[in-house]
Amino acid sequence: MDAQNVPIKARKVPGMNDALIDMDALLQEKKSIERAAKLHWLHWVVIGLSLLLTFGAWYFTKQQVDEKVSNRFAREADQVAELIYERMQKYEDALWGGVAAIHSQSFGIDYEEWKRFSDTLQIEKKYPGINGIGVIHYVTPESMKSYLELQHLDRPDYKIHPPHEKNEYWPITYIEPVETNAAAVGLDIAHETNRHTAAVNARDSGEAQITGPIFLVQDAQKTPGFLFYAPFYRGGTYSTEVERQKNFVGMVYAPFVFKKLMAGTLEKEKRHVGIQITDGDTDLYNEHTENEKDFDPNPLFKKQFDVSFYGRMWNFDIWSAKSFRKEAGNNKPMTILLGGLMIDAMLLAIFILLSRSNRRAINFANHMTEGYQSKEKELEDIVEKLSDSNEELERFAYIAAHDLQEPLRMVTSFSQLLKEKYESTLDDKAKEYLGFCVDGAARMKALVDDLLEYSRITNDVDTSQDVDCSAIMDVVLDNLSERIQETKSEISVGTLPVISGNPVRFTRLIQNLVCNAIKYQNPGNVPKIHVDVTEKQDEWIFSVKDNGIGIKEEYQQQIFSPFKRLHTNQEYIGTGIGLAVCKKIVEMKGGRLWVESNAGEGSIFYFLLPKADIKNKIGEAA
Ligand code: ADP
Repeated sequence: MDAQNVPIKARKVPGMNDALIDMDALLQEKKSIERAAKLHWLHWVVIGLSLLLTFGAWYFTKQQVDEKVSNRFAREADQVAELIYERMQKYEDALWGGVAAIHSQSFGIDYEEWKRFSDTLQIEKKYPGINGIGVIHYVTPESMKSYLELQHLDRPDYKIHPPHEKNEYWPITYIEPVETNAAAVGLDIAHETNRHTAAVNARDSGEAQITGPIFLVQDAQKTPGFLFYAPFYRGGTYSTEVERQKNFVGMVYAPFVFKKLMAGTLEKEKRHVGIQITDGDTDLYNEHTENEKDFDPNPLFKKQFDVSFYGRMWNFDIWSAKSFRKEAGNNKPMTILLGGLMIDAMLLAIFILLSRSNRRAINFANHMTEGYQSKEKELEDIVEKLSDSNEELERFAYIAAHDLQEPLRMVTSFSQLLKEKYESTLDDKAKEYLGFCVDGAARMKALVDDLLEYSRITNDVDTSQDVDCSAIMDVVLDNLSERIQETKSEISVGTLPVISGNPVRFTRLIQNLVCNAIKYQNPGNVPKIHVDVTEKQDEWIFSVKDNGIGIKEEYQQQIFSPFKRLHTNQEYIGTGIGLAVCKKIVEMKGGRLWVESNAGEGSIFYFLLPKADIKNKIGEAA
């Protein structure tokens, strides 16, 4: 099993100033720190959610922005057609204004009057894009002569051109400003189908009409344009085509160069779309060329639609221009995405840093505990070795004492026999030597007996039973009655309890202490001894008080070691085992033995026996 995982109960950690450390709690804490030191699923879930949120926010914002931009393009595209339509209506109004001016003159409008009308219109200013405004008359071969005579009154050079095969004539009578439209004066629009068809349509429908794409005679650059007609009739307006044809007089018309119309209607700088307008296969206007500054070869958006304009169908093809990208370029989604990703990266970095510092803390803690554990192990090994060798020693002492008894008994009894039978035959020196042998053998017997008793306490099985301490005390006093009488000792005993223990050992314990109390007296002093007990919540504290010679403080610990004596045999006879036996008996019950004394003032020997331990021993015995 891994040493780190072996459950360690609360224990003292060596070298930690007696601090008690709950190792279980420490290990739990260590485990939780170890868990925190790893990037586990919760961290990844947080990062995953955060990424999801980031991409979600980016996606929805992008959708919104895309929709907004797309709507904006659609609006701009529609606006192009609307603006052109509005502008055409304005031109149409101008044409009908011309028709009204003609109707206001009962004998037809002359050159000067038309010029005045045109001046009041302020074409350049109010109708940018229109090239001029003029009048076209319908002339039959029959009326040609009178028509020309009438024109020659004001303009002798006036002539109709170019010649053509048709049997009717639609000459431009007036066009203002004449300076820029000189080439158009006298132009017969019947010479060309496109111009002529739209004119016939205008006549027959009574409505304003435009031609298909044409090049104006007055446009030197020959860029696409068209004519815009508004018909007028003799006597007002008519509801049928036949009546219109019968009473048709002519048309007010306006020529347009498409480029100028667009410039006057939709300024390029103010829009972000490119426009292409076609009529059939012919371009009226086209900005989808590389020459255009704002042209975007890969437009973001495109829109195509047809609009009916005064008898023609114009096709609008609108592309978003380069400037649209800038205008519509909204960085919000990208900012959200980058910001979110940065936050996620930071989150990950924080998790990694946190787990790294936790790992460092764990390594440090491991390093520390390794030190303590190895020190503790060392001490445990030493304690184990010591206890092994102690046990061995005790066993040895027990066996030695036990085996010595027999030869010792032989030495004692035979030296005794020798003394009794042959003492009279011996000289004084031999008698003295024999006396030494007998005394030595007796002392050795006492030592061996005591040593055996001391060893037995460890080697014998302890049994517990109810012990009436008062009864034990009576036994002790009885055992010592001879000594008591000899020394005239005064012994008093308090009320002693019934405890659980081994009566033989308890007798030995009390007897040793009382015996010492009688023994260690100054010569001639009458021993006064008091035996008592104090009950505490969990323990009994017995005391044996005497008025003897007392013990100096420096010896008060040593006297409990085996064979430790403070006196010679001549002063006080003894083996030095008595207190060691007492100490062992008390400690084997989980108790404690100590002395309080001042030299010359008597001593009090205390021993403490825990009640719980006594109860436990009863349990074991049962
Ligand atoms: P022993 O009495 O056989 O010498 P003990 O182990 O009983 O051995 O006592 C150890 C020593 O403690 C004694 O030699 C003595 O010096 C001292 N001692 C014991 N009891 C008392 C006492 N009541 N008063 C003074 N000294 C004592």
